[in-house]
Amino acid sequence: MMPRPAAVLGLVLALLAGEGRARADSTRRGPDGEPVRWQSPTLDVVVDPAVRDPGFPDPEGITRLAAQAWSQVPGAPRLAVRAGPATPGFNPSGANQVTVQYFRQGFPMSTTALAVTVLTMDQRGQRILDADVLLQGSRYRFGWLSPAGLPVSATAPFDVQSTLTHEFGHVLGLGEDEAHPDATMFPRQRPGEVFQRDLSLEDRASLARTYDLDGLPEGGCGGRVAPGVPVPWAWSSILALGLLGLGLWRRRAPWLLAACGVLVSAPPGPSVSGAAVVLRSHTVRRGPWLYTTATVLRGGRAVTVTLPGGSLQGVRQVVLGAPSGHRLVPGARVGAEALRGAPAP
Ligand SMILES: [Zn+2]
Repeated sequence: MMPRPAAVLGLVLALLAGEGRARADSTRRGPDGEPVRWQSPTLDVVVDPAVRDPGFPDPEGITRLAAQAWSQVPGAPRLAVRAGPATPGFNPSGANQVTVQYFRQGFPMSTTALAVTVLTMDQRGQRILDADVLLQGSRYRFGWLSPAGLPVSATAPFDVQSTLTHEFGHVLGLGEDEAHPDATMFPRQRPGEVFQRDLSLEDRASLARTYDLDGLPEGGCGGRVAPGVPVPWAWSSILALGLLGLGLWRRRAPWLLAACGVLVSAPPGPSVSGAAVVLRSHTVRRGPWLYTTATVLRGGRAVTVTLPGGSLQGVRQVVLGAPSGHRLVPGARVGAEALRGAPAP
């Protein structure tokens, strides 16, 4: 999850500008279209003793609250939280645990994210084998805020329960939900905010789609972006302004309705990031994590980058909340934004 500066306005502006491809939910799918998910009904979540900070005196209890937000959805995998020594990374020959790690110095993922979740999956990228949540306490100040949160300000701490709730969505296989600024899986958080502690209808719907749960609402905008259907920019704006007016008249989340209006009508738009072609790459293991070093051709120049993640020895590791090396296979075209800010760890 990223720290969030004026995210709602940014989302609306970005959508009005037609940048990027909006996603209508956070379900992630593998190569054959099936959701990325666990097979097990119960996941063992271990909070490492290193998760200690004056800002949140009961890390195990807070982690349990974050896990419950997801586990209370009927039929969802249960996240069973306990404290104890936690071994991160995937162990191919033994039991694996979902671990929660806290870094007060350094961070192994070279990212500005508040936290990341590292998923280890089978080679096809379909079945989750292991997950680890890494909080970047070395860079950001976390706290456990009251249920009302604090006014958003640069001096407020980031609510650790909100961050963990978001990361547990990744643990369960969900991706980011750029389309819904009120969702737990919205990828940005501002200091003082606590709304991501509670799942939105979209979060529940994405979980339901991932685990084939019945009886859950199909929340959200009620529309999906239809790729390849060009709609003039002006029509997006007119529909957004109409829904904004409707929201103000009915006093129901006018900005959200406006964003929905853009979402259901905006064309996917061209990529603004440019692309790089991967010439060669190789993946190595350093401790529990995989890193991929790739030489990419970008703008006529060969550049070497290293990103966490990759495929090695029958498993694939991806980093959610940060650029990930898992797509850096030779011949692939990758967005330049995936390569930005990725020095060798
Ligand atoms: Zn995230």
